[in-house]
Amino acid sequence: MTLLRPQVGPITGPDPSVFSQHYWDGCAAGELRFQRCAVCDTAVHTPAAVCPSCGSEELRWESSSGRGVIHSVTIVWRPVTPAFEAPYAPAIIELEEGWFLLTSVIDCDTDGEELAIGAPVEIVFHPLADGFVIPYARPR
Ligand SMILES: [Zn+2]
Repeated sequence: MTLLRPQVGPITGPDPSVFSQHYWDGCAAGELRFQRCAVCDTAVHTPAAVCPSCGSEELRWESSSGRGVIHSVTIVWRPVTPAFEAPYAPAIIELEEGWFLLTSVIDCDTDGEELAIGAPVEIVFHPLADGFVIPYARPR
């Protein structure tokens, strides 16, 4: 049994683009943002210039509830670089609004039911060493 925690080391932060800056600004403000297509209603993430479903440029920003379920998860015991503190649990989270976020699950044990596929989670935010704020998922 090992508690999963946010990364505290000097891991590489995001490199915001003109499309993703609003997303990262939201994280810094404690708000999980995504885009929705005004033409076909598809929820879009990662931030884009055109809808990946219909090609429309009519993408609008919305705020997510931050609630979702674990769609897929694994536990990393040997990190890819020494900057990462293991173990950590990369996961694909399916948000209530119908989009997916790749993040890590924290605030639970490595061997608990809280890491099961379909387990309910909520998004919380933690700063990296360089000041970027990134989203994590935790059991709810
Ligand atoms: Zn669309």
